[in-house]
Amino acid sequence: MMSAIKHYLRSFALWELLQGLAVTGKYFFARKITVQYPEEKTPQSFRFRGLHALRRYPDGTERCIACKLCEAVCPAMAITIDLAEREDGSRRTTRYDIDLTKCIFCGFCEEACPVDAIVETRVLEYHGEKRGDLHYTKEMLLAVGERYETQIAKDKALDARYR
Ligand code: SF4
Ligand code: SF4
Repeated sequence: MMSAIKHYLRSFALWELLQGLAVTGKYFFARKITVQYPEEKTPQSFRFRGLHALRRYPDGTERCIACKLCEAVCPAMAITIDLAEREDGSRRTTRYDIDLTKCIFCGFCEEACPVDAIVETRVLEYHGEKRGDLHYTKEMLLAVGERYETQIAKDKALDARYR
């Protein structure tokens, strides 16, 4: 009987509604944690795994030696490499494609590479508008590497301290 009266009084006073409003009021004055992207950005790790890049040495030589380790280790089979021997006897890729629609950004390719040629940059703001836009060719990957080399080199130096 007592519980029925209590229930009736609570319903009459809209108790549940007041409880809900109390939660709203509490968060209204609490410190805001919503990030106003893209004006505000969350901190990024130097190990962030974003858009891929192929790097060159400071003299402009391609780092990649076409060993195909990245292609073999890729669990998504997103990398396709063709290679040929150059006149100087060095081995280089003639084709290096990454299908970013297959890639799961696991970072295995970067870890497998013996010469730090393929890396994942901090770049996350990229997109494709039509079929094939996210199929990155060697030229596209080298262009990304050239554009972000300063940041990539800094991140690699930091990473080396934790190996
Ligand atoms: S990040 Fe992972 S899935 Fe993507 S290309 Fe590299 S190895 Fe393949
Ligand atoms: S990017 Fe690195 S792992 Fe992949 S083929 Fe070139 S040298 Fe080998």
